[in-house]
Amino acid sequence: MGRLRAVNERKCSLENCNRRHYAKGLCKQHYWPAWKESQRNEAVENREENPAEKQLPLV
Ligand SMILES: [Zn+2]
Repeated sequence: MGRLRAVNERKCSLENCNRRHYAKGLCKQHYWPAWKESQRNEAVENREENPAEKQLPLV
C-alpha cells in the first residue's frame, strides 16, 4: 500500500520544514513547543477561574 501511505504522509506546514506531519499540521519538533505553551496557558486560565484562589480586587 505504498500509494495510500504516501497520501497520508503529510508534511509539517511550516515553511522550510520537511519533517513528517505529527499533529495539527506540524511536525513533532514544532508541535510540542506549541502544545506545551497551550497547556501552560490553560493551567493559568483555570487557576484564575478558581474562586478559591481569586485575589481581592485592587481598587
Ligand atoms: Zn516542522
